[in-house]
Amino acid sequence: MSIQSINPATGEKIKDYVKMAPQEVEGVIEKAHAAFLDWRQTGFAHRAKLMKKAAQILRDNAGSYGELMTQEMGKPIASGRAEAEKCAWVCDYYADNAVKFLQPEIITTDASKSFVTFQPLGVVLAVMPWNFPFWQVFRFAAPGLMAGNAGVLKHASNVMGCALVIEDIFRQAGFPENLFRALIIGSQQVDAVIENPLVKAATLTGSTPAGKAIAKKAGERLKKAVLELGGSDPYVVLADADLEATVTTCVNSRLINSGQSCIAAKRFIVVESLREKFEQLFVKQMAAAKTGDPMQEDTVVGPQARPDLRDDLHRQVRQSIEKGAKCLLGGEIPKGKGAFYPPTVLTYVKPGMPAYDEELFGPVAAIIAAKDETEAIHIANDTVFGLGAAVFTRDVAKGERIAANELEAGCCFVNAFVKSDPRLPFGGIKESGYGRELSHYGIKEFVNIKTIYVK
Ligand code: NAP
Repeated sequence: MSIQSINPATGEKIKDYVKMAPQEVEGVIEKAHAAFLDWRQTGFAHRAKLMKKAAQILRDNAGSYGELMTQEMGKPIASGRAEAEKCAWVCDYYADNAVKFLQPEIITTDASKSFVTFQPLGVVLAVMPWNFPFWQVFRFAAPGLMAGNAGVLKHASNVMGCALVIEDIFRQAGFPENLFRALIIGSQQVDAVIENPLVKAATLTGSTPAGKAIAKKAGERLKKAVLELGGSDPYVVLADADLEATVTTCVNSRLINSGQSCIAAKRFIVVESLREKFEQLFVKQMAAAKTGDPMQEDTVVGPQARPDLRDDLHRQVRQSIEKGAKCLLGGEIPKGKGAFYPPTVLTYVKPGMPAYDEELFGPVAAIIAAKDETEAIHIANDTVFGLGAAVFTRDVAKGERIAANELEAGCCFVNAFVKSDPRLPFGGIKESGYGRELSHYGIKEFVNIKTIYVK
């Protein structure tokens, strides 16, 4: 059985990858474990030198890595290049800071000496999505390897080329041969990897159903898991918002990565007094976004990553319209090849519609009117998800209070769109998952926080 990668802009097959047999997978895990036993003895300075080299390789080859991402999952070329450079940033960040984050902590007790030390766990499984095929992997791998762990990667089936290139980046940077390996496997083979006693923990970035499957399996084996799952981020627009700037930020956030980002704005909750004006400006900017060939430098919206995902998004749009939503822009699958979907704007979105209840993983915006601030916050929180959220108001103190105390999400931004940054923790609550990536919190997820007590 093989795994195929298909260019979503053209429908052409790029490559077939032969799936690894169960014994081959076990062999890779054994080798990763053997590499870990040596790696854990190395110091931070040595690890940092190699991680800096990985960052340099990413910068030097950002153009070709960007092209590979575009071919495999349709990302506009400029954002693929930027993604490779962001990966270099996270490598440098952990190369520079891991030693500080994982310094032993001396704690005064009745002992002659007591302290906390942070020890690596071993081989960590990463199950990753296609939408940011480099970034999602590096934000796990950079802290993980700096902490002294080994990694095995089960990447999404449509981006196996990216998985193998990432494995090679670590090899070229001088990391031990088997410390970071790509597993060419389908999702049905993941359970066996979690069951393998040499695999000590698992992290998954992906949809909520996939997260629940991993959580269940990891729970059965009592293995630590971090889950970065879906979102339906609300952007709350209050009556005193700077409308022009707000609309531009909202449109940029909705269209980032052709709409396929976990932290893209998905629901726009606008107080009734602003709704009509917001809709006009919003539709105008959504309509102006250049759609088409992702290899063109100025393309904003490329194809969706796979035709089945595009078709599912269209079903969500059609069902929402059937249940009373009004389509102000888009909403039709264009003729011709490729998994394209146009920027689409729905308004009068209500509970019971997919556009209200589910994640819209594509360039489709749901506008929901609220009578006032209190109702807007209620609607923002009326979701099973809790990944990101934003609030727009000229009253920054009020925005800060709403962000800190009222919005139910792992990251809340004021007058800005939600983005990831190596220095800030990233993750969700509710069905958006648990655990945190990035910052000092991220590097502490896969270590043994070990207490030492000396009488
Ligand atoms: P997905 O279908 O859940 O796939 C993610 C990964 O999980 C893939 O490698 C997939 O393998 C694997 N997988 C799927 N079902 C599995 C199962 N039952 N057991 C084990 N592995 C399984 O998600 P996606 O469509 O690739 O990505 C989109 C989703 O990811 C969205 O919901 C988005 O919000 C979320 N996401 C979250 C974050 C975050 O940080 N919170 C970031 C990016 C994306 P196959 O490809 O072989 O099926």
